Amino acid sequence: MTSAPPLGVAGALSHEAIEWWLRENDEARLEELWAAADEARRRSVGDAVHLRGLIEVSNYCVRGCTYCGIRAGNRGVERYRVPADVVLECARKAVEFGYGTLVIQAGEDYGITQEWMTAVLRRIRSETPVAAITLSLGERPDEDLAAWREAGADRYLLRFETSDDELYRHIHPDLPGKVSDRMRILRRLQDLGYEAGTGIMVGIPGQTWASIAADIELFRHMDMDMIGLGPYLPHPATPLGREFARRQAEGDWPADQSANTELATCKVLALTRLARPDANLPATTALSLVNKTGGRAHGLERGANVIMPNLTPPEERERYEIYPEKAAVHETAEAINESIQKLLSSLGRTAGAGAGGRGAA
Ligand code: SAM
Repeated sequence: MTSAPPLGVAGALSHEAIEWWLRENDEARLEELWAAADEARRRSVGDAVHLRGLIEVSNYCVRGCTYCGIRAGNRGVERYRVPADVVLECARKAVEFGYGTLVIQAGEDYGITQEWMTAVLRRIRSETPVAAITLSLGERPDEDLAAWREAGADRYLLRFETSDDELYRHIHPDLPGKVSDRMRILRRLQDLGYEAGTGIMVGIPGQTWASIAADIELFRHMDMDMIGLGPYLPHPATPLGREFARRQAEGDWPADQSANTELATCKVLALTRLARPDANLPATTALSLVNKTGGRAHGLERGANVIMPNLTPPEERERYEIYPEKAAVHETAEAINESIQKLLSSLGRTAGAGAGGRGAA
């Protein structure tokens, strides 16, 4: 295809068109993509930006994901678990700041027992008016997921990271005796009545543009409530971070290697908005880190309608280093909230009220 394929009706982009736009780098042409994604976002989910208060409850992890700074094998990480009372304080802060919902995230940590999480969920439900609770705790057994749903969790986030099976096995090793099947868990979550969310990293070494086009095609068919998209950020204390540095030094990239840049992530975000106009798409922390001054605003102008402000106390937040220099590590929850509110008013957008479920305009 030599001329730009039409962006046409949202939801109707062909696979070839998705690939074409992913490889496009002409700024004037890309303006068309940003405008189409922004229009689809406005028409399908409106101008409200849903704010979901994030609390990183533990950086313990049993897994060996080769991309992630808190992988079990990284001995340089000082591990922590946040006590239940602190989770409750964060939930109250979310309410005080007007955030409709709370996201509880951690490494895959079996020190977070089914019982502990159940008790925390029940306390949040009985002691605060938080409208919805999202969990993101990795590949937990079905019984844990069922118990937490019962105790008041509404949503669960589990990115499939890449639909390229060989690459996934390379970056996300199985646990002994247990094959990682995130697609199965996502279906199970939906059966249990959760709103399910997924997503990918953009620019993983070995991930091609064709492979990302296949990921976007999958989003179109998967019926997910939320889709998180962030650039892959190399962490030097991880095997994939070292592979990235070696490839960079030797210029050893596959012919169709995707990029882990702000521009690449925005293209994936915009095309995902066109493929799934009704989904909740966050302007992720990783995106705000590759362009510290404009990343988040660009995300919101190119398809995103969600932000997850970090409520984790600064001391623990510093130790939840999944990639280097996580944005706003040293800022208080109050300072983060203030800058997000300023950003929204500068863009003429409003903070969404309530749970902010899928398609909420
Ligand atoms: N343990 C849970 C899981 O695996 O779903 C939740 C926490 S995990 C740290 C959350 C997400 O962080 C992952 O799904 C991955 O996409 C992202 N992530 C981890 N390391 C990253 C890196 N180096 N660059 C960009 N994103 C990263």
